Amino acid sequence: MERQVDKVSEAERALRRVFGFEHFRGVQGQVVERVLSGLSTLAVMPTGAGKSLTYQLPATMLEGTCIVISPLIALMHDQLRSARANGIRAATLTSADDDRMATIAAFRTGELDLLYVAPERASQEHFRELLGQAPLALFAIDEAHCVSEWGHDFRPDYRQLRPLMDAFGQVPRLALTATADARTRDDIIAQLGIPQEGVIVSGFDRPNIRYVIRHRESGTRQLVQLLKEQPGPGIVYAPTRRKVEQLAEGLAQASTRPVLPYHAGLPPEERAANQAAFVASEDMVVVATIAFGMGIDKPDVRFVAHAGIPKSIEAYYQETGRAGRDGDPAIAVMLWAAGDFAQARQRVGEIDESRQAGERARLDALAMLVETPGCRRAVLLRHFGEDPPEACGNCDNCLEAPGVIDATELARKLLSAVYRTGQSFGFGHVQKVLTGAADERVLQRGHDKLSVFGIVDAAEARLLQPLSRALQARGSLVANEHGGLKLGRDARAILKGETTVEIVQPPAPAKGRRRRSDTPNPVGDPLFEALRALRRDLAAEAQVPPYVIFHDAVLREMAAVRPASLAELGAISGVGARKLDAYGEAFLAVIRQH
Ligand code: ADP
Ligand code: ZN
Repeated sequence: MERQVDKVSEAERALRRVFGFEHFRGVQGQVVERVLSGLSTLAVMPTGAGKSLTYQLPATMLEGTCIVISPLIALMHDQLRSARANGIRAATLTSADDDRMATIAAFRTGELDLLYVAPERASQEHFRELLGQAPLALFAIDEAHCVSEWGHDFRPDYRQLRPLMDAFGQVPRLALTATADARTRDDIIAQLGIPQEGVIVSGFDRPNIRYVIRHRESGTRQLVQLLKEQPGPGIVYAPTRRKVEQLAEGLAQASTRPVLPYHAGLPPEERAANQAAFVASEDMVVVATIAFGMGIDKPDVRFVAHAGIPKSIEAYYQETGRAGRDGDPAIAVMLWAAGDFAQARQRVGEIDESRQAGERARLDALAMLVETPGCRRAVLLRHFGEDPPEACGNCDNCLEAPGVIDATELARKLLSAVYRTGQSFGFGHVQKVLTGAADERVLQRGHDKLSVFGIVDAAEARLLQPLSRALQARGSLVANEHGGLKLGRDARAILKGETTVEIVQPPAPAKGRRRRSDTPNPVGDPLFEALRALRRDLAAEAQVPPYVIFHDAVLREMAAVRPASLAELGAISGVGARKLDAYGEAFLAVIRQH
C-alpha cells in the first residue's frame, strides 16, 4: 500500500517536472498507476483527454524503453515532436526515417524512453530480435480498436501484435482508443491479452465543445459568418471532392482568412503541403473530406463545421472531437438539409439487405440528434451509454431553447396532399396545392379539385417547409432523386392519428443578431500578441507548429500573471523543465518589455 502511494506521488512529481502540469486529468492518474504497477490496461478515453501522456510519463520513469505501436507515420511524427519538446528521448522507426541505424543503436544502449513503430514492422521477425537486445518498459498500443473487426478501422497487422507481446510476457501492455463500444472493447482485450479488470473507461463528454446544429441555407453565407466569428484554425467537412473544391474556392473569396482544400484527389505533394500548412497555422481553414484530421494531432483547432450530415453519430462525434483538444472553447457546427437525409436513405436502399436495418438505425439516431429541441450533448452522451444531465448549458438548444410545436394535424394534411397528388411531385407543387395557389401546372393536373386544395392557412404555411424537412429526416416522407415526394415508413400511422409529430419552432428570420464567439484569448492585448509573435519565431526556428512550443492557455497565463523569474514562469501549467530551460529567458524578456 505504501509503495502504491509512493508511486502516485512520484508520478505527480514527474508530471510537474516533465510536462509542467499540476494534476492528472480524468482517468489519467488511474491508468498511469496501473502501468507503473506492471499491470496491463485498456484505456478508453475520448479525443483530447490526454491519452499519450499515460504512456509517455511512465516511459520517463520506468527502466527500459516503451514501444509504441501507432498506425500512421504522420501521427508518429506528430507525437515525436511533442515528446521531444518536453525533453523525452523518443524516436520513430519507419520507412520515412533515414536515421534508422542511429535509432537502433540508441535503443540497444538504453537511450530511448519511447520507440514508435507501425504494426507492420512490429510483426516482423527481426524487430522481435531487436526487442530482445535491451530492456523494455511497456507496450503501448495506440488506436487499439484497429485490432478488432468490430471497430471501424480494422487493420490485420494489429493481430500480429499478440505473438510479439507474448514473447515478452512480463512487459505490461497499455491499449488506447477513443472509440470502443462494449463489443469492440471485449474484442480488444481478448485480442491483446488484457484482463477484464484492466479496462478503464473515461466519460465521453467534451465540455469545451459547443454543439450547434442548423438547417443549411443555400450558398456559403452561414460558413462565411462562422469564419468571421470564430478565430483560430478550423476544419470544414464537405461530403464530396467536388463540394470540397467549390466550398474552398467560395470561402477563400468571401473571407479574409487563408482557406485550403484537402481531399484524396489532390496530388500527394499538394495534400501534404496543405496539411503541413494547416498544422503550422494559427488561423487557417481547411475544407476537406472526412479523411482529413485522422493523422493529425493539432490541439488548437477552434471549430469543426459539417457542411452536410455525417455518416452516423459515431462519425460525428469522432470528427467534431478533432476540435478543442487543448481544452479551450471550441465549436462544432453542423449544417444539414432534408436532401442529405433523402440521399442517405436512398443509398441505404441500395446496399446489401442484411445491413439495411442497421444503417437505417444509424440514420434515425442522427435524425434524432438533428431534430431534438432538447440538449444535443445529452443525446450524444446517451447514445454512448452514459446518463448525462438534461441540459449542458453549452449547446445551441441549451443556450437558446427552441419552442416545440405539435404539428400532427399539419403533417396529416401534408402527407395526404402528397398521397392524393400521386406521390411524385416535389415539395413546391404540394405546397401550392395545400395553400391554394393554383398555377398552370396545378390546374392542368386538376389538383385544384382535390379535397386538400387550399386547406392550409397562412400561419400554418410558414411551417410547411420545416415540417417537410423534419418528416424527411425521420423517413416519413421520402424524396426521389428529382425531389418527388412519397410516403415512407410511419406515414400511415401519422395519417391514422396513431403517431404525433412535433417539430422545433423555426427560428425567426435573422435580424443581424450575432453572438461573437467567446475566444478566451485577450484579443488586442499587446503583451499577449508579443508572446504569440515570439512563439511564432521560436516555432519557425525549430521547424515545429507553434502549439508544440506552448499552447494558447500557457501564453494567456503568462500575460495575466506576468512572471518575473524563471521560478515563477515554471509554476505556470504547461511549462515543464525542458521548455523552461529552452524558452524561459526569451519569454521573460518579452514580458519585461511590456
Ligand atoms: P488524445 O491523444 O487523448 O486525443 P492528447 O494526448 O493529444 O490527447 O492530449 C490532448 C492535450 O491535452 C495535449 O495538448 C496535452 O498537452 C493536454 N494534456 C494532457 N494531459 C494533461 C493534463 N494532465 N493537464 C493539462 N493538459 C493536459
Ligand atoms: Zn446542451
